[in-house]
Amino acid sequence: LSTTTLAPGEAAAALAQRINVPVRLPNNYKGEPIRHLSHSALSRFLLCPEDYRRSYLLGEWGPPSGAMFVGNRVDETVTAFYEHQLAGELLNLDQLEDLFAENWKAKLAEEIERDGSVEWEDCLDAEQAHAIGLQAVKVTYDELVPRLGRPLAAQRKFEFKIHPEPEWSVFGYVDLDTVREQRVFVTENGEQYAVQDEGESEPTVELGYLEAPADRRGPVKRGRKTLAPAEAIDTYRREWDAYQASLTAWAQTDNPQLSEPKEPAPLPVVAIPVSQLAADAVEREVVGITDYKVKNSLISASKADSDPQASLYLTERWMAGNSAFDFRFAQVGKPKQGKRNTMSTALVATKRSEAQMRATLARVAMAASQIVALYQQLGPDRPWGYATQEWKCGFCNHAASCPLSDGGLG
Ligand code: SF4
Repeated sequence: LSTTTLAPGEAAAALAQRINVPVRLPNNYKGEPIRHLSHSALSRFLLCPEDYRRSYLLGEWGPPSGAMFVGNRVDETVTAFYEHQLAGELLNLDQLEDLFAENWKAKLAEEIERDGSVEWEDCLDAEQAHAIGLQAVKVTYDELVPRLGRPLAAQRKFEFKIHPEPEWSVFGYVDLDTVREQRVFVTENGEQYAVQDEGESEPTVELGYLEAPADRRGPVKRGRKTLAPAEAIDTYRREWDAYQASLTAWAQTDNPQLSEPKEPAPLPVVAIPVSQLAADAVEREVVGITDYKVKNSLISASKADSDPQASLYLTERWMAGNSAFDFRFAQVGKPKQGKRNTMSTALVATKRSEAQMRATLARVAMAASQIVALYQQLGPDRPWGYATQEWKCGFCNHAASCPLSDGGLG
């Protein structure tokens, strides 16, 4: 557990001068003040204040959705893999699949005991979800684990205050902290040219066929023929000269029936490994944060750059004085009906500047102030305002009883 409180004079103190950070959050259904804001609480509140009120103030959690249940089982299985590795034991895929099956059985029994089971969807019943979970464990083991690096901690709990005064803190669990190797290719000036991460193949740069080193040029398919490089270049130049000549003739003609000549098909680009172009390469180790996701739609690099969880978790490392190199989403894409039969994986990295991390603290403070203001205005029993993004209702535990969702209306 890492607990951090910023000293006065640092970023949080400066922030507190500008934003009124509430000292206390409202009481929950147990009559106790809310002590923590997690990434999940913050995102629930920002997407739908009513979802936040019912979950965190009233304690109405409801059963998990099938997608949430399967995602958590995969998460816990991968966590178990790294916990064993940290203890010096490397599990194989068979052992991981056994762990997944045991975890599934135990957690399903817990859900039945607690709240009457999982809310399976029409397109994802228990059997399908179990099969998807097993497949997700396998592709994670085969395709993502070799790229994640050496574990430093699994499910590390963090907690920090954005200012010394408030009685509440921000808290969360980091799926995985790792250290991994990188090879950094540099130019003659020592500037970074490209990076090869652990477990990744060497990056390449695409050069035009004529600019590429002669020994990297392959044969070229032109019409029905496959030409050797020298012949391909000669042919292309001849075609180009002929094209230029016909273009000149076309420009000078006044015959409207004559159509504009077509450019010859370009020669292919050639992928050159960066080691052939860089002046040097240096090895380094970087420490980063990993979060596992099993999703219908994978998070793209541009979405990752504005993702609030990545912002919050990187901010926590910065606050703790151990800035992480990056935050990576280790993702498994679920098969899509009619579109994708197999699972895909993606490892998407993102970083934040200090200005962006300060803005993250400001957003947390603003959300806390809004929670307090809504409580003062409406109390715990009146609705706090509904989601403005309808997709959110599809993932909400309160949809069945919410007047705004189809579940509530239907
Ligand atoms: S169903 Fe939609 S509007 Fe209603 S609480 Fe859930 S997210 Fe909010």
